[in-house]
Amino acid sequence: MKESFLAGHCHYVRSSMEAKDWPTSVLPEIAFAGRSNVGKSSLLNSLVNHHNLAFVSNTPGRTQCINFFLYDQQIYFVDLPGYGYASVSRQQKRLWEKQIEDYLKTRQQLRRLFLLIDSRHGFKPNDILFMDFLDKIALSYQIVLTKADKISSSSYEELKKEKECLIHKRPAAYPEILITSSKDKFGVSSLCQAIHDIINNQ
Ligand code: GDP
Repeated sequence: MKESFLAGHCHYVRSSMEAKDWPTSVLPEIAFAGRSNVGKSSLLNSLVNHHNLAFVSNTPGRTQCINFFLYDQQIYFVDLPGYGYASVSRQQKRLWEKQIEDYLKTRQQLRRLFLLIDSRHGFKPNDILFMDFLDKIALSYQIVLTKADKISSSSYEELKKEKECLIHKRPAAYPEILITSSKDKFGVSSLCQAIHDIINNQ
């Protein structure tokens, strides 16, 4: 049976938008991104079976930071700030976008980015722009649909196929889409498997 969560120890390391503060280790990294409220913190908590390890979206000072967590002394999970509705100035937003782009463009040890998309809403314009950017910089990414419990389970396969068709011409997109729910833990084991595969292919 597939594991329903990652059993190794995971701990918070640091948060910063500044490249000078990011871990200097050469350990591989996996990043998680998506619109604000997509369910990223909940999914990350489910993944490591902690209710509030540190992947809490409203932890003061961390929502607009790149957050690093070390899993099992072998890989970093990198929680990127949610995009969408930040109530900040356009200038501040542009600076954050630039820092995230710098991280994504320059991080040699970054193996894959999981891009979270709400099952109910599908790809929104800023998701498309983000995917365009990932394709342009050739950073491998995989779509993870969240909150599957909010849609009918009879439409999972259909939804998966429909979304896979939408991305199949995107050069950096991983062809298989994952469907998850943090509420009932559906699909979390498949995400664990994908992460194990990344770790084991080092
Ligand atoms: P983040 O902003 O992307 O980190 O999103 P959160 O994890 O904080 O979740 C945003 C809201 O969606 C919260 O109210 C969560 O309880 C809810 N949520 C997250 N995951 C799920 C899920 O799998 N199913 C349902 N029904 N609600 C979820």
